Amino acid sequence: MLEEWDWSEHFAGQPETLRYLNLVADKFSLRRDIQFRSRVAAALYAEHTHSWHITLDDGSRFSTRFLLTAIGPLSSPTMPRIEGVETFGGQSFHTARWPHEPVAFTGQRVAVIGTGATGVQTIQTIAKDVGHLTVFQRTPNWCAPLHNSKIDAETQKKIKANYPEMFRRCQETFACFIHTPDRRRTFEVSDEEREAFYEKLYAEPGFGIWQGNFRDILIDRKANATISDFVARKIRQRVKNQQVAEKLIPRNHGFGTRRLPLETFYYEVYNQDNVELVDITETPSRQPASRPAIANTNSTSSSTPPASMPSPAASTGSTSRAWTACG
Ligand SMILES: Cc1cc2nc3c(=O)[nH]c(=O)nc-3n(C[C@H](O)[C@H](O)[C@H](O)COP(=O)(O)OP(=O)(O)OC[C@H]3O[C@@H](n4cnc5c(N)ncnc54)[C@H](O)[C@@H]3O)c2cc1C
Repeated sequence: MLEEWDWSEHFAGQPETLRYLNLVADKFSLRRDIQFRSRVAAALYAEHTHSWHITLDDGSRFSTRFLLTAIGPLSSPTMPRIEGVETFGGQSFHTARWPHEPVAFTGQRVAVIGTGATGVQTIQTIAKDVGHLTVFQRTPNWCAPLHNSKIDAETQKKIKANYPEMFRRCQETFACFIHTPDRRRTFEVSDEEREAFYEKLYAEPGFGIWQGNFRDILIDRKANATISDFVARKIRQRVKNQQVAEKLIPRNHGFGTRRLPLETFYYEVYNQDNVELVDITETPSRQPASRPAIANTNSTSSSTPPASMPSPAASTGSTSRAWTACG
């Protein structure tokens, strides 16, 4: 399978990932062993028969000796709890329930609520086309550049030749990523050396700056302050309006102590004239109007947009949209 399949870029987008999953399902005839649209409503273990009795929400029942529950830790979305949200007159979307049809944002007035990993990817993607974008932020996250790129034929060959080594390495690392922490402690090197190391990591693709950093940055506050300060300076350099930059710098946690969103020109979005950042800790949320105005919610890498978010087709006029980003 790995020999057959060529990934087009280092961090594949949703359509390509879906094509790959479908190919795997076809190649290994997996569909014949899967029953779709079947929600398990109850599972009871019978001690006397040593078996599970499973009931689906349509009432059908099954018995099985073994039950593996791969129901995911994050598969249940939290919908926005904003007073009046149900009477909002515009269109609204939750990233966990993204429509399969393309959504046209071109020229629209859009609000995104939440600046977690999904919010960040959404903002950087739709900012290219929207008429006006308002971002509602409660807690900023530390983000680092994804540096995605196409995979050329030669690199493809090298990757394929290296698969066994990659898998072996991932099995040995803390989070099953390819990066291993640097063996040095933060203050074992000079200030200049540390700065150069952080620059190198900031310029590399993926989670290296998080998982391949000095081994003590996530356990020593002073060590962590050095990388937090480095990334804060990057934000200040990339965002022209320094008041906005300060709002985008997290204050309540150190770099990497929460899931790190990876971004592609996310911070540059705030240099666009048609983008506004609203800190909801300063500006309490308002009840959405029944006609298009503002709605919604809360917040959580790769440069890939959320499920099926192709480029908007064409402008559909001035109707504004509310848009929720959660994760
Ligand atoms: C916002 C967000 C961004 C992420 N970004 C990335 C990323 O960029 N890269 C990455 O590698 N990982 C990412 N992850 C993590 C990745 O999505 C998860 O680790 C992965 O999907 C977990 O796979 P899983 O099969 O365990 O669970 P899931 O993919 O959650 O699948 C669980 C399935 O079980 C079903 N289910 C639940 N309850 C029942 C029931 N009672 N009966 C029947 N079915 C049920 C659900 O509908 C779901 O289809 C992200 C996760 C989130 C939430």
